[in-house]
Amino acid sequence: MTHVFSAADIDDTAILDELKQWVMIETPSRDVAAVNRLADRVEASAKAAGLEVERREGTLGFGDILSVRSPKAEGTNLKSVLILAHLDTVHAVGVIGKELPLRQEGDKLFGPGVYDMKSGALMALEAMKLAVARGTKMPIELIFVPDEEMGSLSSRDFMEERAAEADFTLVVEPARDGGKIVVARKGVGVYDVVIKGRAAHAGARPQDGRSAIRAAARLVLELEALSDTERGITVTVGTIQGGTGRNTVPAECKLQVDVRLPDPETAKEVITRIEAMVPVDPDITFEITGQLNRPPFAQSEEGVRLFETAAGIASGLGIELEGVTTGGGSDGNFTAAMGVPTLDGLGADGAGAIRSTSIFSYRALRRARRFSPI
Ligand SMILES: [Zn+2]
Repeated sequence: MTHVFSAADIDDTAILDELKQWVMIETPSRDVAAVNRLADRVEASAKAAGLEVERREGTLGFGDILSVRSPKAEGTNLKSVLILAHLDTVHAVGVIGKELPLRQEGDKLFGPGVYDMKSGALMALEAMKLAVARGTKMPIELIFVPDEEMGSLSSRDFMEERAAEADFTLVVEPARDGGKIVVARKGVGVYDVVIKGRAAHAGARPQDGRSAIRAAARLVLELEALSDTERGITVTVGTIQGGTGRNTVPAECKLQVDVRLPDPETAKEVITRIEAMVPVDPDITFEITGQLNRPPFAQSEEGVRLFETAAGIASGLGIELEGVTTGGGSDGNFTAAMGVPTLDGLGADGAGAIRSTSIFSYRALRRARRFSPI
């Protein structure tokens, strides 16, 4: 049974007011009390609408996880729709009073985490309430995690456990420019490299030194040479730190490396090559540690079919749905890598999550007025 809702079903003023309340509660991933304050609000709102809430106490120094479920419908054994959202943001507490004040300009709302992803998370909750109120038989589970911006270290297992029982997964991360949704994401690898050499006075005994910086410079070029735009591989050395003073041959240098990979085969190939890198000079050592933090989210055949279904529904509502691939990771990477068909970027449309500004376009609410939960 498909329920199609019209603009009259949604009180966008109330949703906008509630969104402002969510944004006022600033929720950096590492601030457990702050994230839990927002979780309290979400829990109360879900319960007031008759939804079931399972709250799991936070671990690893993160806030609680909320799982909001539709009441069990009699006589159905349908698999669930899993919706993934996160309550944390990358912004520190206090930015709302300084560089990122909450403000509305016409149909745009600015503020920390507005776009990524409080608007998407709230819209998912409101859509779910509406679908349940209209008697949907499809079981829906909406998970709010506290740590997505830090790699979902404390919530990954739970999401994967729930995804194993789901028919498909929808992720309400921000849409891409113009309301495009995300149908594939690259995998994300994070590596740290410590290069060790030998210190020596640069004037008195340079011949005894083994420069870790020189070895690092060579390694940076070798690492970044793995990048291949056509194949969708990027390797970026994001930070470099080394040396103790101008007149000392540096004994140590450290690199932080970011790796983006399009599919599991390529990931294996590139990671093997990174881990096999060795210094040219036998007196230098490399310590390479890291992992694939998020596996590649490649578009499967089932993923294509899910997109086509969504595009068909959208088209009936006058929305032309466009799917794109992005280099940024999300929790959708976990579910897609398990083989669960996943659509992502279903949250708000906006003007980008640039560091100094986080914008949520009010247009997205207008679009949301025409959504069609199953
Ligand atoms: Zn996000």
